[in-house]
Amino acid sequence: MSSPDLDRSDEEAVLNVLHSGVLGLGPCSIEFERLAAEVAGVQHGVAVSSGTAGLHLIVRALGIGARDEVLVPSFTFAASINVLLYEGAIPIFVDIEPDTFNLQPSELSHRRTPQTKAVMVVDVFGHPAAWDKVALAARDLQVIDDCCEAIGARHMDRPVGSYGDAGCFAFYPNKQMTTGEGGMIVTDDDALARDCRSLRNQGRGEMGSWLEHERLGFNYRMDELSAALGVSQIKRLNTFLSNRAHVAQMYTERLAGKTWVRPPVVRKDVTMSWFVYVVTLAEDVDRDAVIEALAAEGIPSRAYFSPIHLQPYIRERYGTRPGMLPITEDIARRTLALPFHNHLTEEQVERVVGALERVVAPAAS
Ligand SMILES: *Cc1c(COP(=O)(O)O)cnc(C)c1O
Repeated sequence: MSSPDLDRSDEEAVLNVLHSGVLGLGPCSIEFERLAAEVAGVQHGVAVSSGTAGLHLIVRALGIGARDEVLVPSFTFAASINVLLYEGAIPIFVDIEPDTFNLQPSELSHRRTPQTKAVMVVDVFGHPAAWDKVALAARDLQVIDDCCEAIGARHMDRPVGSYGDAGCFAFYPNKQMTTGEGGMIVTDDDALARDCRSLRNQGRGEMGSWLEHERLGFNYRMDELSAALGVSQIKRLNTFLSNRAHVAQMYTERLAGKTWVRPPVVRKDVTMSWFVYVVTLAEDVDRDAVIEALAAEGIPSRAYFSPIHLQPYIRERYGTRPGMLPITEDIARRTLALPFHNHLTEEQVERVVGALERVVAPAAS
């Protein structure tokens, strides 16, 4: 489905750290933070052990806690919601736009109550949310940008991660660039950055000794091996993103005009950071039968996402059920992620689309 883009310079960067003997909190982390903040167009980067860890620290540092309501889409990865649950906050699910799959800005005013404290915005599949409308609707709320799938994306030429109080990138191997495991908080808020640095490092203060803890913290640090890989990868981010855009364009051209499928929609005012290539099948196509038939031809594909408000642990806790988010549920039944990475060739794209064409007709009712 996906494949990281690793080369000799990545290997050398990691080996250099091994030879240096400094494996934690060293110069590579600082350099990686600087470069990531630059990509987001903000003052601060705080490197952490995963995207989930970064989002959790933002929630904690913003003081979002027990019984606070947070508006969040259900059409996302579970981590966007889990970090709210870790702090006892209550997710209030909002429906999405049927074309971009991002949260519907009008939902923010419809679903909020006096207990609503914040919004978790997700830039789904690397397409920025409608940030102008979101920022307006959420102007008196705290705003977190889950840009874990969107590093380098821009809305009206402003980078994701620069909107809201803070954003977070993620670097798991299926993302646009990788550090193995890893994440990066990005923010312009000095105090928030300082608190996140302390919280990721067992609650230690900036100046205090190693055994002085100012608050309850976590071990969410990024190690130097990962940070070195991050520095090496982020220097090639623009190349990665243009290669991915090229692959997406090949798919989209090949799929144009077919009645049984809609290629991803890209709004005019955004620059994508292609994370995955997700098509929407026509209503009469049995998506799961397509996945099986593609697998039989040796082509991996995936249903993406499975709504979080319908996951067993969420239904049990909050009584959520089918029918609550009609657009989310309809889209989630019909979306299909195709194989996608930086070096997919025209022949491979042709093979995937050819197989898709063959299997879709019998799967249509
Ligand atoms: C990848 C991802 C995360 C973070 O994932 P980690 O595996 O913890 O790095 C968070 N939110 C979304 C939407 C993601 O896609």
